[in-house]
Amino acid sequence: MKTLYYSHPDFLLHETGKGHPECADRLRSIAKALDAPEFAHLIRVVPPLGTEQQIRLIHPRFHIEAIRAAIPEHGEHFLDHDTVVSPGSEKAAFRAVGAVCDAVDKVVTGQADNAFCAIRPPGHHAEPDLSMGFCLFNNVAIAAEYARLHHHLERIAIVDFDVHHGNGTQAAFSNQPNVLFASSHEMPNYPGTGFPTETGVGNIINVPLAAGDTGVEFRKKYNTIILPALRNFKPDLLLISAGFDAHKDDPLASIMLDEDDYRWITQELMDIAGCYCKGRIISALEGGYNLKALAASVAVHIKTLLGH
Ligand SMILES: [Zn+2]
Repeated sequence: MKTLYYSHPDFLLHETGKGHPECADRLRSIAKALDAPEFAHLIRVVPPLGTEQQIRLIHPRFHIEAIRAAIPEHGEHFLDHDTVVSPGSEKAAFRAVGAVCDAVDKVVTGQADNAFCAIRPPGHHAEPDLSMGFCLFNNVAIAAEYARLHHHLERIAIVDFDVHHGNGTQAAFSNQPNVLFASSHEMPNYPGTGFPTETGVGNIINVPLAAGDTGVEFRKKYNTIILPALRNFKPDLLLISAGFDAHKDDPLASIMLDEDDYRWITQELMDIAGCYCKGRIISALEGGYNLKALAASVAVHIKTLLGH
């Protein structure tokens, strides 16, 4: 497979302060894992800066302006109790949006089969007019809207296997039948949404997991609920909100997945993308806070995307 890998030093400029789990070392640990020879064929792309126009596909101007206004000249500023901005945050956040949109351009036009965007800040908790949960702009939601409006794709599926509910993505698309949003997440846990009764206009699928659940329960729920829904939807493009914090070693949650579960879900999603949308997948990093587990899980995810 022709797999693109997006990363950039700007993503390290988003500083969250000492002890914050969503730290620049996350990307450093991923980069180190990808130095292995088996990733020699990964096509490394320098992402462009995203544009305000792209961000406004999901977020109103006042939201963008409020984030800009909150960015301090030095140190960090807390937008809420866990969402932080620093002097480099605007550049990082715009670059993250640029990465996912460039990946849409290249994958949709057939220049590559799939892409992984190692970006931060993450995005899936960012609602159209609210930053929260470490997220400023909703990268994956922007990518979905960009693919719909700029590439005229009709049906976009977003699968979110981060251990936390993607409330921001759900909020962006709860009235949009052409975007299917399927999320598996631990409940109860942050942010508190994601009940199966939250169905949007029939396009939202929430699959809660319970603390202690392993790959057995995870795979069963995907096999019985999310994967059949994806096949039924027949997407033109598949986006993944790829958080790796359902790993058994992650400090922010209590789901017990291991690297093989991430290999499995990646392969299942590739099989569906292969059937319905020429294999087109764009995967964007969300959570994952144990550096070792994150690096190993991302490595397996990318190895699978490469077809190894
Ligand atoms: Zn998460």
